[in-house]
Amino acid sequence: MTSTLPTTFNSLENTFDTGPVPISTRLRHRLQQAGASFLANDNLAEYLQEGELDQLELEVAGKVRELLRSLVIDIDNDHNTEETAERVARMYLHEVFKGRYHKQPKIASFPNVKELDEIYTVGPISVRSACSHHLVPILGNCWVGIKPGERVIGLSKFARIADWVFSRPHIQEEAVMILADEIEKLCEPKGLGIVVKAQHYCMKWRGVKEPQTSMVNSVVRGAFRHDPSLKQEFFELIRQQESLL
Ligand SMILES: [Zn+2]
Repeated sequence: MTSTLPTTFNSLENTFDTGPVPISTRLRHRLQQAGASFLANDNLAEYLQEGELDQLELEVAGKVRELLRSLVIDIDNDHNTEETAERVARMYLHEVFKGRYHKQPKIASFPNVKELDEIYTVGPISVRSACSHHLVPILGNCWVGIKPGERVIGLSKFARIADWVFSRPHIQEEAVMILADEIEKLCEPKGLGIVVKAQHYCMKWRGVKEPQTSMVNSVVRGAFRHDPSLKQEFFELIRQQESLL
């Protein structure tokens, strides 16, 4: 692989354009050079340079405008959709998929000076995502259980990290795994359990159109995985939290 920037391939004319290379092409090239994956639920922030997110927003808006035109929506005369492309681009890059393009929020961890050893749970934490298959919302709640290790983080920080991880196109099973990885990196708990219960709009709004169906999945690691009584205590605490709602 060469280190020179790729030119864009014009598939209509079967030629390479020599004009300015779109930012997405440059970024993709940079990611490939670094051997980094850029799947829908990967974070790309460390590969974005100053000002590039603004360029990406402009590029995405242009593509959404083309999508609307392909859907035969008269964006030149329809006052409702006139600025939809810009809104959608902003929403993708800075809101609903911000966990791909923005850095992880700064979360400080502290030494566990009191050597806290009891398990605790936090929840429900609301989570919002979109399914990778249809890009429609996944909305639900998350519960996190911790048996502390050497370091601890503040309770509100679980909501911050969950928001950052879920704000990407996902499938629920992978979202929970990625959240578990990030929490382990932050505070290295002796035991970690996560449960997510979410409704998928690709089942409610389209497809089978089942409005009440939800998906529940969990991950347990460390002590929660090896000690059945701890695992049971974790699920029992969550049940109590849910019944208090
Ligand atoms: Zn879907």
